[in-house]
Amino acid sequence: MNEVVKKQNLLDLDREGLERFFADTLGEQRYRAHQVMKWIHHRHVTDFDAMTDLGKALRAKLQEHAEVVVPQIQFEKPSTDGTHKWLLGMDGKNAIEAVFIPDKGRGTLCVSSQVGCALNCQFCSTATQGFNRNLSTAEIIGQVWVAACHLGNVPHLQRKLTNVVMMGMGEPLMNFDNVVRAMSVMRDDLGYGLANKRVTLSTAGMVPMIDRLSVESDVSLAVSLHAANDELRTELVPLNKKYPIAELMAACARYVQASKKRDSVTFEYTMMRGINDQPQHARELARLMRQFDNTVQSRDAGKVNLIPFNPFPGTRYERSTDADIRAFQKILLDSQVLTMVRRTRGDDIDAACGQLKGQVVDRTRRQAEFKLHLQSQGIDDAAA
Ligand code: SAH
Repeated sequence: MNEVVKKQNLLDLDREGLERFFADTLGEQRYRAHQVMKWIHHRHVTDFDAMTDLGKALRAKLQEHAEVVVPQIQFEKPSTDGTHKWLLGMDGKNAIEAVFIPDKGRGTLCVSSQVGCALNCQFCSTATQGFNRNLSTAEIIGQVWVAACHLGNVPHLQRKLTNVVMMGMGEPLMNFDNVVRAMSVMRDDLGYGLANKRVTLSTAGMVPMIDRLSVESDVSLAVSLHAANDELRTELVPLNKKYPIAELMAACARYVQASKKRDSVTFEYTMMRGINDQPQHARELARLMRQFDNTVQSRDAGKVNLIPFNPFPGTRYERSTDADIRAFQKILLDSQVLTMVRRTRGDDIDAACGQLKGQVVDRTRRQAEFKLHLQSQGIDDAAA
């Protein structure tokens, strides 16, 4: 009886893995792997027969042992501000979201790392969806492939996709290996050719994994802080109980100090009315940032990104007023802390930070609990 051999999805491999696959499984040379990478990521070709600079025999071998499976677009939605959101089917049951955000001279893709999220950040819509599983490398880089294909992106020539942020659904550092491998394809010249600084990983603060990332990758690090004292941060980001602010800041300092290629960490701070947006909170944050700069002995090592809260049905939080956000920013700027306010984009299509939901077959009880919570508030579930 013929043994059924599972084909290798080439999107699961970075350059090193692909070279090994070509050598060990196909008995081919490395430069063949490079040609195939370019077909896939530069020209968005997934059919081996269309890879015309490969010989017939090699194409037949590829057909037998390999495939290129990209995520299925279930739904896509352009926003009036140019933002574009995709709902991508992952396995017949689950779907995740990816969002492209064009802005003067740059195009940023927000990529998901998990189906749902296991952390329970109180102000994030993804959290209400519960958690199903980690995404594979193919499913992560596949989001970039879909966007690049849609945009007609050609690295170095027709560059529409200039930045990737791992800020979609999920906690990227809880899916470490697949995320790091996918980020290596994003940065590879045979992949999407993005500089280290143009790939950003955002974490809720998985301290041990920040140290691992420091060894294995040189990407930009963003940390979701949201509060500068432990009591409030634990309320908003329950992970803080396990890795409190002092430990988190120490890990961030080690990240910057470990490589000359890194000079700063961005701290994200979602502004919620009456919760974390008052002058005393800003002063507390300014102190924390100055301490951080002193620890790493570099001015502007800690940058702050203020994100106006994006509401979703059933949330108990509200967005801070513009005046409060400006006052908060001014206190930080007056303390010499580099502080930006992130412009809200794509909120008409629920594509803004913290609004990504996808379709999660929840393996926790979170989704059911949230539905009950909505019912108790008289909110129709379909609207959520
Ligand atoms: N798990 C990772 C990445 C996903 S969240 C992390 O926590 O960093 C990406 C960013 O959006 C984070 O800074 C997150 O705190 C923020 N965010 C989540 N919900 C939000 C909301 N409702 N409004 C504004 N920002 C939100």
